[in-house]
Amino acid sequence: MRVDLQFDHDHLWHPYTSTLNPLPCYPAIGADGVYIHLETGEALIDGMSSWWSAIHGYNHPLLNSAAKSQIDKMSHVMFGGLTHAPAVELGKKLLSMAGFDHLFLADSGSVSVEVALKMALQYWHSKGEARSKFLTLRHGYHGDTFAAMSVTDPDNSMHRLYKGFLPEHIFADSPQGQFHQPWDPADFASFRAQFLAHHPSLAAVILEPIVQGAGGMRLYHPQFLREVRALCDEYGVLLIADEIATGFGRTGKLFACEHAGIKADILCVGKALTGGYMTLSATMTTSDVANTVCGGEAGCFMHGPTFMGNPLACAVADASMTLLQSGEWQQQVAAIEQSFATLLPSLRQHASVKDVRWLGAIGVVELHRPVDMIKIQAHFVEKGVWIRPFGKLIYMMPPFISSHDHLCQLVDAIDSALEKDLLAQ
Ligand code: PMP
Repeated sequence: MRVDLQFDHDHLWHPYTSTLNPLPCYPAIGADGVYIHLETGEALIDGMSSWWSAIHGYNHPLLNSAAKSQIDKMSHVMFGGLTHAPAVELGKKLLSMAGFDHLFLADSGSVSVEVALKMALQYWHSKGEARSKFLTLRHGYHGDTFAAMSVTDPDNSMHRLYKGFLPEHIFADSPQGQFHQPWDPADFASFRAQFLAHHPSLAAVILEPIVQGAGGMRLYHPQFLREVRALCDEYGVLLIADEIATGFGRTGKLFACEHAGIKADILCVGKALTGGYMTLSATMTTSDVANTVCGGEAGCFMHGPTFMGNPLACAVADASMTLLQSGEWQQQVAAIEQSFATLLPSLRQHASVKDVRWLGAIGVVELHRPVDMIKIQAHFVEKGVWIRPFGKLIYMMPPFISSHDHLCQLVDAIDSALEKDLLAQ
């Protein structure tokens, strides 16, 4: 059946789009390895991993067989009062990989952030302390549900639209010093000042370790994280690490916190958890936090979505963790980082380029002006690649199986787009 593009245009909302003037969409009919196949015949080299998630590539035999064999046993049963091997086996792997004691399985990245914030609030409630504020960073992104949005950059998530409804939290300046630059202690001044001014009311600090993704693809210095951890320890404030984008090898470490040698009190993962097959997320924490949460007035943790622990998603996630445990991702991500280091600097020659940066399997080209989305997207498709810029950022986070050749084609397509000046006027 052909994709009814007219119906799509007239009736379906896509992420961050208008019904009045929707951007064109390309009809996908299949995907395998690093390729996305369009109905119009093109095979596009994927530079996005479907927003950080398809780390092993598409249509992976091991993930396919995990999904197929699970679907023949049971697609879903409620997690209240029942349990099953896919959830238990995934739990064993995840907790040992991340070094935590307790795991809450949720539906999406945003929900895992809601769960983390709720855990922190309930933790303090159990201790008999009224703490309801979160400290976070400008340019951060934690999701589109309301609590997640309340700790997301106020300008990017349009807090002003929801004023009066959205809880108001505390924002510190985001780190300016880049990952590979020398550490400047002045970079921590705003965070320290906000922390010291508010710590008695802080339930937790929440941040994206090392990479601020949707808020600008900023790669910051690990020392910033060490300073945050030290302050949280000194004043007994919880630290929530949102590794929904960075988790599972993307930055060159299994978890980005490892760049700083720190561990959070609560960790959120999602996206690549199922290798990009379906939505699933997890919030992990320590025995101390979990038992304090459950030792309070409620006597339990007050959250339980209908599709919690969905066996199909857990079975695929378990297979995805098996692939990661083989360790091959380490060489793959290191090779991608090496390719970016070779290929990206030459893009600086374009007057429109403000900065290029990379870390692990993340490559970023920051421009002075926003791109013309319609034109640049058409150009990329014509060049046989799938790259989806936003604003002034053209960025890549390709599947880990991408070869140097694939990356050359992605970077060539960006180079020719800049050559043609496909930026907004
Ligand atoms: N946190 C971070 C760091 C993210 O990058 C995202 C997704 N872009 C989310 C949370 C929200 O995840 P989801 O879209 O699955 O709700």
